Amino acid sequence: MTDDDNLETRLAEQDVFEPPESFVSQANVTDAGIYEEFEENWPECWEAAADLLDWYEGYDEVLDDSNPPFYEWFTGGSLNASHECVDRHLPERADEVAIEWVGEPEDEADRSITYGELHREVNEFAAALRELGVGEDDVVTMHMPMVPAHPIALLACARIGAPHSVVFAGFSASALAERMNAADSEYLITADGYYRRGDALDHLSKSREGVADVEHDVETVVVDRLGPNGDDHGHELRENEHDYDDLLAANEGTTVEPVERDAEDMLFLMYTSGTTGKPKGVKHTTGGYLAWTAWTSQAVLDVKPEDTYFCSADIGWITGHSYIVYGPLALGTTTTMYEGAPDYPEEDRFWEIIDDLDVTQFYTAPTAIRSFMKWGAEYPARHDLSSLRLLGTVGEPINPKPWKWYYKHIGGEECPIVDTWWQTETGGHMITTLPGVKDMKPGSAGPALPGVDAQIVDGDGEEVPAGGAGYLTVQKPWPGMLRTLYKNDERFIEEYWAEYSDTDSDDPADWVYFPEDGAKIDDEGYITVVGRVDDVVNVSGHRLGTMEIESAVVSAEGVAEAAVVGADDDLKGEVVHAYVILEGDAADEDTMRERIEAAVEEQIGPIARPAKVVFTPELPKTRSGKIMRRLLEEISDGEELGNTSTLRNPEVVRDIEAEVRGE
Ligand code: ATP
Ligand code: MG
Repeated sequence: MTDDDNLETRLAEQDVFEPPESFVSQANVTDAGIYEEFEENWPECWEAAADLLDWYEGYDEVLDDSNPPFYEWFTGGSLNASHECVDRHLPERADEVAIEWVGEPEDEADRSITYGELHREVNEFAAALRELGVGEDDVVTMHMPMVPAHPIALLACARIGAPHSVVFAGFSASALAERMNAADSEYLITADGYYRRGDALDHLSKSREGVADVEHDVETVVVDRLGPNGDDHGHELRENEHDYDDLLAANEGTTVEPVERDAEDMLFLMYTSGTTGKPKGVKHTTGGYLAWTAWTSQAVLDVKPEDTYFCSADIGWITGHSYIVYGPLALGTTTTMYEGAPDYPEEDRFWEIIDDLDVTQFYTAPTAIRSFMKWGAEYPARHDLSSLRLLGTVGEPINPKPWKWYYKHIGGEECPIVDTWWQTETGGHMITTLPGVKDMKPGSAGPALPGVDAQIVDGDGEEVPAGGAGYLTVQKPWPGMLRTLYKNDERFIEEYWAEYSDTDSDDPADWVYFPEDGAKIDDEGYITVVGRVDDVVNVSGHRLGTMEIESAVVSAEGVAEAAVVGADDDLKGEVVHAYVILEGDAADEDTMRERIEAAVEEQIGPIARPAKVVFTPELPKTRSGKIMRRLLEEISDGEELGNTSTLRNPEVVRDIEAEVRGE
């Protein structure tokens, strides 16, 4: 029997996994009583999160809920995020590594930045920003690749009380301009370029094109990533552009007193990834957000100062903000950031990094795990991954098949997996197992965190019984929550609250947060997020989660990945269409179609059997790697394609469209 056959037979039937004893015996949280304790002691339970921080001025009240849904947390308290993430660690950890930066190509570029060095560079850059005119509450935009200056810039902004607004570097000039205009942002930090699969790519041209469309003057700081290594695309700095290294040199050794910020002062603004439509400008504050990311990093990711933690996200997404930069650094640990692609120079790049640095926690996304699976178990097998203690996933539902692959081939069956459900809007984790306390159920994120009141409700807002399915809601506020959509309180209410709240009431009990995801719940309170509300297929009145059907499709031997959508149907309302990527050695298409139909019938029922199976080499994905089902649905329905601006691979959509229409 091959290794993979073993996995099938041993793990395929298993649907509950106990946390490994080796993990539990050292976990940060091991007391199962925490759930009850937090429930009874809500909202004061969140003092536990605030206690992880070092406040200048202690807060008066944990929660001010007098004006829902505009909740305020830790009111009257003051702090500074750069002090929390840097200065306060200096007495103990000045010479310990804060950031392990792994560059591409694997030349001499790698950099280990100690807390002492981080402190120095953050101060120098903070001084430089001030000199450029950045004042407290001025929004500074970043459009940066994964270079060390990126987290340094975040912390420098935090130090002087200037909220940042990060636009993912892969986003276009017009996306950048749109966000800078929306936030009246007069400052931009960017880079000349970056390395991707060995090539030195131009980046500055794109940022400049964006700046040209900004309605006001912009001062730009340019990080020189390519210069010393050769091809810098001939960029010469222009008027209103400043070289990052020159700015640091001019401020060598300068220190800047961290600005005392009110707990409710804005720390940053971030636009959501745009999977469902137009991105929303989510506002996060200093106290609640930092407390939330620190607490969840400790309780869920089990971060300890002596760890070497690695999250493979990009800082341009909320995951990078919360779980590469703020959470880990608030706890004084070593956080790893990687500039390049997971498959360059070879498909074992992540495993090589984990082996080299003795990484203890690895946090990634289902889209990446599906790629690892496709590439094969021989790549992780080349490396010693025994330093790993915990694995995490975020971004999309993860099916049991890739979950088990991750568990076995990366975690060696000795690491718990935290499947963390959360959103840009929630600031940090909301639904996941506490890894030292709860059993894991592949495919289900787990119960809501202690103190988080998640409920699955029906269309009328009534809680569904255990075993039921419906809409995910959060019934009580939490410290890491977004405070509003930037300069748009009305849309904030409309987008997240109106659905299930009595919007005329000022009783917080009448306000319910609606994340727009569908979910089901089992008799132990484990929640399976089945996808966005519009990712539900309604066949003859039966509401089927696309994720569940996808899970069945993927379980068929030879299927690598699948996306399921509901296509309009005169008779049934909707029918299931499955878009499927096959593994390299899969059977012929007719056999595969039969296998897929059989798997769906067996696992869900004939009602869910796909009316159409389309084989495709790729699926349309956002730049954050999520499947854009909306576009597939438009193809299935023969509609005009909507907004594709946040898509990573637009050409794929045309190919699939041609394939479907040609039939
Ligand atoms: P937009 O809101 O602009 O359409 P987006 O929702 O993709 O974009 P994010 O905030 O990055 O932007 O993603 C949050 C969403 O990702 C969640 O609402 C959920 O649909 C999905 N998600 C995240 N983690 C998980 C998880 N562990 N399990 C299931 N779904 C998840
Ligand atoms: Mg969203």
